[in-house]
Amino acid sequence: MAVSYCVGVDLGGTNIKAGLLDADANIKSKFSVPTEVDLGTEKVIGNIGAAVKRAMDEAGVASSEVVGIGIGSPGPLSHNRGLVINPGNLPCLQNVPLRSAIEKHTGIKTTLENDANAAAWGEFWAGAGKEVNDLVMFTLGTGVGGGVISGGKLLRGFYENGAELGHIIVQSGGRRCSCDQHGCVEAYSSAYYLARRAEELVADGRQSSLKAHIDAGEMLMAEHIVEAAKAGDELARQVWDDACRYLATAIVTMQHVTNPELVVLAGGMIAAGDFLLDRVRKYFRELTWSLMEDFPDIRFATLGNDAGLIGAAGCAWQALKTGDW
Ligand SMILES: [Zn+2]
Repeated sequence: MAVSYCVGVDLGGTNIKAGLLDADANIKSKFSVPTEVDLGTEKVIGNIGAAVKRAMDEAGVASSEVVGIGIGSPGPLSHNRGLVINPGNLPCLQNVPLRSAIEKHTGIKTTLENDANAAAWGEFWAGAGKEVNDLVMFTLGTGVGGGVISGGKLLRGFYENGAELGHIIVQSGGRRCSCDQHGCVEAYSSAYYLARRAEELVADGRQSSLKAHIDAGEMLMAEHIVEAAKAGDELARQVWDDACRYLATAIVTMQHVTNPELVVLAGGMIAAGDFLLDRVRKYFRELTWSLMEDFPDIRFATLGNDAGLIGAAGCAWQALKTGDW
């Protein structure tokens, strides 16, 4: 049988990452181009179409050899309807039927997936979760995103808003989150909010080496907290420990919901390395139940920034298998 390929597209507010992959997740081409979101809907669709063509050209593959396109897009979106609904950083794609637009542009079957789900599928298909059938992924960046694979299938839910793991409530009546709920794990464990929390504590008069950054007019970053916590700063240590403990709390919740074999941590914050992982594992063991020993392994993602692109192509391969485009 002739070898065939899928194209993965990781659509972001700034850049479109695209690449061509075979059925074993080998990347045959990969690049990034500007999304040009300011130039409007047609331009963005045209740029995605051009990126698909370039992914084939750079790999020396004809379009007749490409059996599917997977697009990972910011949500909320509807996979079932192939519709991007209201992506914050891509306003020109509001209520755009992107799946059919790309199919029309390329003549190739296309599937549309939430970008966080696509990244989780990437780690499941070709990364940290290659050996398992049930995983939960937390992506720790500016916000907290996530994805759930249960029984080898991506979990979307009836309203297709499942796996919004950043908005699991870990503190009833707690800090207000960007989503308007109170006490979401994102409000404690995301890079953005943990820095804001440190600023608030300094503003309340707590002593900290972080005050020097604030007094210098810098915006505190998660890296500042990690650095100060490692150096023994008590306030930074408390904020970091809380971020790790609340994340562990959310993992305990997911343990009881989907009972995964593996929890994958991804995103910019995993740069903290063992300073993050050791604490999350420790708090998880402290907080979880003692009735059973069904403890998931907690590990870092392995695909880095390519997870979205690889996962998007993987979603196309999966759609080819199941017929669920
Ligand atoms: Zn929230």
